[in-house]
Amino acid sequence: MTFNPDADISGNTTRRRGRGAAIGGGVGVGVIGILALLLGPVLGVDLSGLVGGGTAPSGGGASTEGALIECKTGEDANTNDDCRMAGAEVVLNDYWEQHVDGYVAPTMTVVDGQTPTQCGTASNAVGPFYCPPEQGVYIDPDFFDIMRQQFGASAGELAQLYIVGHEWGHHIQNITGVMRDHPNNGTGPDSNGVRIELQADCYAGAWLGDVTELEDDNGVPYLEPPTEAQLRDAVNAAYVVGDDHIQQQSGGFVSPESFTHGSSEQRKYWFANGYQNGLGVCDTFAIPGDQL
Ligand SMILES: [Zn+2]
Repeated sequence: MTFNPDADISGNTTRRRGRGAAIGGGVGVGVIGILALLLGPVLGVDLSGLVGGGTAPSGGGASTEGALIECKTGEDANTNDDCRMAGAEVVLNDYWEQHVDGYVAPTMTVVDGQTPTQCGTASNAVGPFYCPPEQGVYIDPDFFDIMRQQFGASAGELAQLYIVGHEWGHHIQNITGVMRDHPNNGTGPDSNGVRIELQADCYAGAWLGDVTELEDDNGVPYLEPPTEAQLRDAVNAAYVVGDDHIQQQSGGFVSPESFTHGSSEQRKYWFANGYQNGLGVCDTFAIPGDQL
């Protein structure tokens, strides 16, 4: 799936640049990322102290910010990872405005380096995440290189859109009350946390399944239909961020009781289910645990 080169994607995305100051803490409580924090050992970075750590927001490091003004057209989105994120933001807001009454867009920050947030420090090492208290999506496109290097995913265009769509899914869960109604109740294969993650995968799939119908203000479709290869790539991205896959990659054995995001098969299934069948099938809380 590529953007229509003529589509208008000029939006509000903010880019922040860390200044290399010492990093105080990492992603703290309340943060919802694309994958389990077990990513740390895989990267050779010890994030183990951060899990459930309630880290205070990191104040270290000035950051600069400004809109990604160079991102104007679909062609920009096709040639530049940052602009692809900006383009995704525009299309996601367009989509969700049509599906959620009173929709309020999240903020989106394309991180370059490290930047402090109310949920801790955003960087490529922790992966993309959504910070509920500030209704903000954070994504460092360097993370896609990590997916390629550490997880063997090609992390192509559609896979990248899946990941942004997943984080947007958490915003939808926040503003529609899903998070409030299904609070964190620990880990495990049918925990609320896993159901939240699988629903976000389903939302991302539903968005991508419908997205070729969406048009910019000039009637130009934002995106061209995905190829089979791109679809396989996106499904593979959902697979490699599964808890069991990450646990294996980390050199450990698979421990379903510690699942926070769902197994690779589950993530693949829910992404594909949303893609094929739309938003109506995404109530993961209505499914018995053994059928998730
Ligand atoms: Zn997530």
